[in-house]
Amino acid sequence: MGVLWFNEIGKNDIPLVGGKGANLGEMFRIEIPVPNGFVIDSKTYREFIEVTGLKTKIEDELKGLNVEDTDVLTSVSQKIRSLIESTPIPDEIAKEILSAYKQLEKEEGKKVFVAVRSSATAEDLPDASFAGQQDTFLNVQGDELIEYVRKCWSSLYTPRAIYYRVQKGFRHEDVSIAVVVQKMVNSEKSGVMFTSHPVTGERKTIIEAVFGLGEAIVSGRVTPDTYVFDRETREIVDIKVGEKTMMITKRDGKTVEVELDVEKANQRVLSDDEIIKLVEFGEIIENHYGTPQDVEWAIEDNRIYIVQSRPVTTIKKKDEVSEEVEGEIIVRGLGASPGIGSGVVKIIGSEKEISKVQEGDVLVTTMTTPDMVPAMRRASAIVTDEGGMTCHAAIVSRELGVPAVVGTKDGTKILKEGMKVTVDGEKGVVYLGILKTEKKEEKTIEYSAPLITATEVKVNVSIPDAAERAAATGADGVGLFRIEHMVLGLEKHPMKYIRDGEMDRYVDALYREIKKVLKAFYPKPVWIRTLDAPTDEFRAMEGGEDEPIEANPMLGFRGIRRDLREEEHLRAEFKAIKRLIDEGLTNIGIMLPLVSNVEEVRKAKRILIDEGIPLDKIEFGIMVETPASALIIEDLVKEEIDFVSFGTNDLTQYTLAVDRNNENVAYLFDETHPAVLKLIEHVIKVCKKHGVKTSICGQAGSYPHVVEKLVELGIDSVSANQDAVRAVRETIYRVEKKIMLEKLRNL
Ligand code: PEP
Ligand code: MG
Repeated sequence: MGVLWFNEIGKNDIPLVGGKGANLGEMFRIEIPVPNGFVIDSKTYREFIEVTGLKTKIEDELKGLNVEDTDVLTSVSQKIRSLIESTPIPDEIAKEILSAYKQLEKEEGKKVFVAVRSSATAEDLPDASFAGQQDTFLNVQGDELIEYVRKCWSSLYTPRAIYYRVQKGFRHEDVSIAVVVQKMVNSEKSGVMFTSHPVTGERKTIIEAVFGLGEAIVSGRVTPDTYVFDRETREIVDIKVGEKTMMITKRDGKTVEVELDVEKANQRVLSDDEIIKLVEFGEIIENHYGTPQDVEWAIEDNRIYIVQSRPVTTIKKKDEVSEEVEGEIIVRGLGASPGIGSGVVKIIGSEKEISKVQEGDVLVTTMTTPDMVPAMRRASAIVTDEGGMTCHAAIVSRELGVPAVVGTKDGTKILKEGMKVTVDGEKGVVYLGILKTEKKEEKTIEYSAPLITATEVKVNVSIPDAAERAAATGADGVGLFRIEHMVLGLEKHPMKYIRDGEMDRYVDALYREIKKVLKAFYPKPVWIRTLDAPTDEFRAMEGGEDEPIEANPMLGFRGIRRDLREEEHLRAEFKAIKRLIDEGLTNIGIMLPLVSNVEEVRKAKRILIDEGIPLDKIEFGIMVETPASALIIEDLVKEEIDFVSFGTNDLTQYTLAVDRNNENVAYLFDETHPAVLKLIEHVIKVCKKHGVKTSICGQAGSYPHVVEKLVELGIDSVSANQDAVRAVRETIYRVEKKIMLEKLRNL
């Protein structure tokens, strides 16, 4: 039994220290500066369960267990875990662990916090991967280390780990667990590094950097600096300094967020020297493992540490860039975000499990939530049971550029943890296995000059951190900025901020996030839509317990009707916008959702003026997404609005009585139904007469066949999803030409 220091471990020690431990030891040996630490080997765990008599108790519990019965599995897991966690570790073992910890403190010359990580291992199966199945604990200090070691050991028996072993045919008694104890770095700077380009595989190192801890990047809450180093010419070829509005740091072992002032936020994080040193470490690791690496690094007291390294799994071979696949289809749904992605299935029951999803995995869940966005970024594809083309998973994955299939009904049942699959986000199918893709002829025509269209082509945005990507489409602005995705991603319910007397904090968060989008598109206009989240979507948030339970949330307390009842909230939104106007941003539009009465527009406008927003400095408009608003459009335009935008997702659901999120009636959801088109045609006619601009921002604006009709009806702009901007522009170009030709012919 024993404690092994990193410098005593090598890559062949997996049976003793697990994959994670062996990897750290190996890096230490090749002089990569990993934070120091030690591993409590797998024999120690075995000794613990043998001398304490736990071994037979655990075996008894597991005998004849039916892992498909989730309730029984959960209760057996709980029993074994509490047995392990409540049994004292024999003195001799505890002493050895604590004396190693003290040695670490001595070497560092200060109090150290450690990360305690599980590293499971199967003695005769060094290649078995249990990555991410057991627990990790951060910021552990002093004697409490013993308690966390036991917690790591007990995590060998989580329901998922037990299930996985049974499914893969591992005998429980063949599997053991080592525990890695590693000094935590309280970094002044940190980030990630791809030793080679993560998509094309070119010899270009890409480094992302922020101040403080790296969580800020992983959570997507901060725009990091990006540095590109060309390994052929040995030069830094690109430097983009991000606006790092805050940093995450550790104070007394607690992780806290600190806002950064404008100067610090826009300061470059890494010097040229630091970039070059990082690149060199990256090259040593890449050469050692023979494959490009995705590296996490940190700098503390001017010392660089390599915190983690794993192979890059996203590099696409050249012939995979444009794709078509064939194979056995095991799941079908709606193709919600185009592209093909393959990888290992990770089934996510709730946002608590998102750390299971590693770079390149296929995320499978009932329906995604805003808390899952970090994992959605890492995923190679997303599959959900529920949802239609405008559900959370569909909207967010399109913006992130991750292939997605939604509304599969039984994806989480048919797809099993660990299965390898290929997802086609265009056809809406999932194939068994990692399939080879075939090169497909490019369908779109290359034009020598950018297409200029009279009808503007805009883009929809929901995730502020993806706004730059959206702006890169060349869109003429944002026709719909849905703020609810970002609000639902905040730490608590918006009304809870207000009830807790923290209106300012909420306004700050809105201000910060909205600004990212305005800046990414400046000076092109961004139409910010006031909050529109149904009650059921708010319920999971802290403070969301008081949300009314509604039989029909789509017809309930949402949109502008809600903001007028919760006026403080509407005021918070306007306060944030006012700050942005005062800073000189001139590309702001405000759009009200779910309008169905004239009075709603009047009241909202009064509050807007009351909050000091100058109407001559913004565009003010409404969404037409209820049949009521379409039918009373004559009265609504009299309220001096600058524009209307068709929310065809809602307009279609309310006109046809088809729930947009219900996959059972998805076949009836048709934005080109004559009734819907009649309403749209009527609104465009009336608006033209009154000089009010018309636009569309519903999903139908991304469908070329619908766009064609709308252009013929005289719509002024179309706002599409990122992935559809180009096709929509081409359609508009062609239709406009056709209209002009017909006019000429008739002269
Ligand atoms: C719509 O209803 O078409 C729309 C764009 O709004 P949302 O999808 O956010 O309800
Ligand atoms: Mg809507």
